[in-house]
Amino acid sequence: MAEDADVIVVGGGLAGLVAATEIADAGKRVVLLDQEGEQSLGGQAYWSFGGLFLVDSPEQRRLGIKDSHDLALQDWMGTAGFDREEDLWPKKWAEAYVAFAAGEKRDWLRAMGHRIFPVVGWAERGGYDAMGHGNSVPRFHVTWGTGPGIVEPFERRAREAQKSGRLTFKFRHRVDALIVTNATVEGVSGAVLEPDAVERGKTSSRKVVGDFTLRAQAVIVASGGIGGNHDLVRQNWPKRLGAPPKFMISGVPEHVDGRMIGITEAAGARLINRDRMWHYVEGIRNWSPIWPRHGIRILPGPSSMWFDATGKRLPAPLFPGSDTLGQLDYIMSTGHDYSWFVLTQSIIKKEFALSGSEQNPDLTGKSWRMTIKRATNKGAPAPVEAFKQHGADFIVRDNLADLVSAMNALSGDNLLQLDHIKAQIEARDREMTNPYVKDAQVMNIHNARRYIGDKLIRTAKPHRILDPDHGPLIAVKLNILTRKTLGGFETDLDSRVFGNNGQIIRGLYAAGEAAGFGGGGMHGYRSLEGTFLGGCLFSGRNAGRAAAKAAG
Ligand SMILES: Cc1cc2nc3c(=O)[nH]c(=O)nc-3n(C[C@H](O)[C@H](O)[C@H](O)COP(=O)(O)OP(=O)(O)OC[C@H]3O[C@@H](n4cnc5c(N)ncnc54)[C@H](O)[C@@H]3O)c2cc1C
Repeated sequence: MAEDADVIVVGGGLAGLVAATEIADAGKRVVLLDQEGEQSLGGQAYWSFGGLFLVDSPEQRRLGIKDSHDLALQDWMGTAGFDREEDLWPKKWAEAYVAFAAGEKRDWLRAMGHRIFPVVGWAERGGYDAMGHGNSVPRFHVTWGTGPGIVEPFERRAREAQKSGRLTFKFRHRVDALIVTNATVEGVSGAVLEPDAVERGKTSSRKVVGDFTLRAQAVIVASGGIGGNHDLVRQNWPKRLGAPPKFMISGVPEHVDGRMIGITEAAGARLINRDRMWHYVEGIRNWSPIWPRHGIRILPGPSSMWFDATGKRLPAPLFPGSDTLGQLDYIMSTGHDYSWFVLTQSIIKKEFALSGSEQNPDLTGKSWRMTIKRATNKGAPAPVEAFKQHGADFIVRDNLADLVSAMNALSGDNLLQLDHIKAQIEARDREMTNPYVKDAQVMNIHNARRYIGDKLIRTAKPHRILDPDHGPLIAVKLNILTRKTLGGFETDLDSRVFGNNGQIIRGLYAAGEAAGFGGGGMHGYRSLEGTFLGGCLFSGRNAGRAAAKAAG
């Protein structure tokens, strides 16, 4: 039967865009399908903060950070905790990915015009031993231009390929099935959805106005994860974390629906590590939502005090920014699915960043003038101040008694006692008089300020929480926010998908979040952050290059 292209790519997110541009650049014909409209091209990556995991970069070296491939690999393995038979390919992908991040990743992007904000962030700091979870050094490189800045080079390449006739976009094409003949994937079929001019990221119509069938030598599934589908998140919720949360907010648009995962499984593909996920515990309800249940993640600096729903301080080393899944595990063990930050105006001003391109107009708009204000401004960045004013999870008061009573009113649970909270804050405040202390969180603050990047824009000068000069006091109710799917389709290093019989399925490839960012879960149990976009770049590139080569 006649082929419509050499390769079909399902999903116009970052992984699909990268794969499609590699195929076109190899001189092959590619069709790129997406269920959403053209206005949503780029998928989640557009909304992202654009943070990238890079190792031993010029940006790190300029800030005096000594990083190396071996240190990064040690951190990755301590974080991933690979311990399953099915971790064979994920582990190979992890090794290949760390080599990519320490090698050609930065230059490859730079040659396409990608640029990096010079202050490197320090995400997932761990707090255990050298072989445990976390980044030993700052490695989170924010794209100058955030999410749109990482999509832009690939969209540009895709538009060029479209002009030359090698790439065809088919928006509002929803794949409902893979066509499999003699154990070989030969194409896709599905529904054409009615045009919808809805704004990027908003829920679009699912009204079907036609159907389609397309054939090619290979199909690459790059359809993203399950984070927008709370039913699937709950179904796959890891048993080791107890019962799934009753209340969650969404860190991803609704098109991250996981539907294509089931469709690809139905064609015989082997899905592994489905119980590994990466959800945040510092989610706040967006006061100006774009997608349903829209939540934003606070990227916190190290100084806020963190209390569980009953008012007990989280144990060391579960400080802000240290161990996302350790915090999730602890919070779920309390029997409540929320927790609290208590902080001061001085802390919010310097330490609160919000993840997402639309929450960082200075970096997204590539405005040096606005960005410099992060270091010099009297208040917090405008989007943070707006949350403080309008956000349903923010409370601002001049004294602790009023703060705690408003916290009780907001949760409706009445679990917090003023004396209990006050005693813990005063005890912590007594540790502020010396530069050496026994409180592990305060030690952590002093440690952070030894890194120039943190001292400049991410860690407030140590002070007492109850010092009125640093007020007013602020409490933030933190919700669980769904985001990334760490498991996915088992793939070899060419992104070829394995079937349930352990054999490669001819003609089928997977990339990005659908492939667990490579191999079916290159992160293992946990991430070092900035590794998701990078995983889409790397697996999309491998898939595109391999499928183009195989397409004779
Ligand atoms: C707010 C936010 C901040 C983030 N910040 C960072 C960060 O700083 N660093 C980092 O590394 N990562 C970050 N991430 C994560 C990262 O952006 C995602 O993991 C990554 O972009 C996923 O890309 P993808 O191409 O695999 O999937 P997606 O972007 O989800 O794209 C998949 C596409 O497939 C389409 N599709 C799905 N099913 C079908 C079907 N059946 N038929 C047709 N089309 C279909 C969807 O409509 C979608 O367009 C962030 C994510 C968000 C939302």
